[in-house]
This record gives sequence, C-alpha cells and structure tokens, in this order.
Amino acid sequence: MKNTYKAVQVTRPGLVETVEKELPEPGPGEVLIKVEACGICGADAGVIEGLEKGINYPRVPGHEVVGTLYKTAEPLPAWLKPGQRVGVGRLGGHCNVCEQCRLGHFNLCQNQPVTGSSRDGGYAEYMLARVTGLVAIPDDLSSVDAAPLLCAGIATFNALKKSCAEAGDT
Ligand SMILES: [Zn+2]
Ligand SMILES: [Zn+2]
Repeated sequence: MKNTYKAVQVTRPGLVETVEKELPEPGPGEVLIKVEACGICGADAGVIEGLEKGINYPRVPGHEVVGTLYKTAEPLPAWLKPGQRVGVGRLGGHCNVCEQCRLGHFNLCQNQPVTGSSRDGGYAEYMLARVTGLVAIPDDLSSVDAAPLLCAGIATFNALKKSCAEAGDT
C-alpha cells in the first residue's frame, strides 16, 4: 500500500510546490480524510503570499474541504460511519474543554486549529482533521458543489439568516 500522498504546499511565501508527503496517522480525536474536493478562498491567498501572520511554513492551504473518512484512531461518534463523506472548514474543530467551549461558544475555542493556516489543509490527496470540526455532506450534493459552502457559503448564509430575509425576498 502506498504510504505517501501528493500535496500542494506553500514552501515559503510566494513559492507553491507539489510535494510527496508521508501519510500521517490520526491522533486522538482525529480522522484522516481522503480529499475529493477543496474550494479556493481569498484567505488561501494570504497564506500563499505571506500576508497572514504567524504561519509556520511549509503549509498546505485549503479550508473548504470535502472527502471521505479514510482512517480513524478511535471509534467514531454514532453519526459518522467509515467511508462517509464529510466536510471541514476554516475552524478545524473545537476542544470541548477550554472556557469558551464550556460556555458553548465553540467558534471561539481557544485551542482550535485553523485549517490551512495553523495546520495543513485540503490542497492535498489526504488531510488530518479533528472529529469536532466535521460536518456530514448530504448524498445528493456533489463534493465539488459542497466544498465552497464550507467557508464562503457559511459567510453568506449567516448574513442572510441574521437579516431575517425569507424565500422570495430581495
Ligand atoms: Zn475561506
Ligand atoms: Zn475549546
């Protein structure tokens, strides 16, 4: 079995290369995803061009990722099955133990990896992700159509939801 995979990494700001990396083992609370699609977002350009501060290069960008569950370290929660299609966005999964998590503010988790920024993202054949960062993808939505919903789609949806607009409104 092949134990390497292709990834597109930013080796240093301004230099993007296709590299062969060793397939990682998922740690506690993590899964290895076989990537099917990854959207391209403006924040990726910040990583590529070195505009985002605090990035440890080399870094694989991409935070609109859809793929299948390939390997897990621990039993999966009931809503996830091996091989299932899942998505992961920029917020890479909350820790459930920090103060913000205990208040239910998972988006403000103080120990949350940022996909494609503080940890490697989806410009790759495989990527690691925290189980708490995963969402299920409906069968009738293709991976290519689903991927951009995980960042640009959420931003638009939240704005529409807070505006109280209803179907047919302009
Ligand atoms: Zn984005
Ligand atoms: Zn937390």
